[in-house]
Amino acid sequence: MGVKTNQLYDYTERLSEVMRVSARNVGAKYGLQPVQIQVLRYLSLCNRFSDTPMGITEYLGLTKGTVSQTLKVLEKKDYITKCADDLDKRIAHIKLTQAGKGLLNDIVPPPGFKAACARLTDEQSAALGDVLEQFLLQLLQTNSMKTFGLCYTCRYNKKQDAGNYMCALLNIDLSLDDTQLICREHVLEHI
Ligand code: SF4
Repeated sequence: MGVKTNQLYDYTERLSEVMRVSARNVGAKYGLQPVQIQVLRYLSLCNRFSDTPMGITEYLGLTKGTVSQTLKVLEKKDYITKCADDLDKRIAHIKLTQAGKGLLNDIVPPPGFKAACARLTDEQSAALGDVLEQFLLQLLQTNSMKTFGLCYTCRYNKKQDAGNYMCALLNIDLSLDDTQLICREHVLEHI
């Protein structure tokens, strides 16, 4: 293992610690644990095929018990609501309430993160975004983890006439808004 690898590991580990501390500090003002904020954040990003306890479990690498407990707390605080799937009543879809959306708007990204980003030039931000995207993909692949990528980058996303889209895996029409969300069935075009 080279110096470069050690250095990258140290930076990445430290970044993740800083993000965790920041989330803990922001969440504490609202009586929320970092994991509860992570679940809310995931629900704000994912599509209607991924807003289930299983989707949350896979994305965050949590146990079913932790997800179940977290959802109970968030529902009690009125940040989420559950509804049964139209075709299979055993499946619950979890949606953010207006209160949940409002909370996320207030706290994500945390003020410290925004301030640090503001200190980067546009070129630095763009270059960092590209490198982080590539590195994240490499880490997901080498750890055999699902990509949970944006729908429009999926190999199953097919553009139709008149600017409509469809999912060739689930055989359903997709709106433009759908294509901007992340999905647990996502497979990158070039893999
Ligand atoms: S096209 Fe891919 S990402 Fe989009 S809904 Fe279908 S499987 Fe999910």
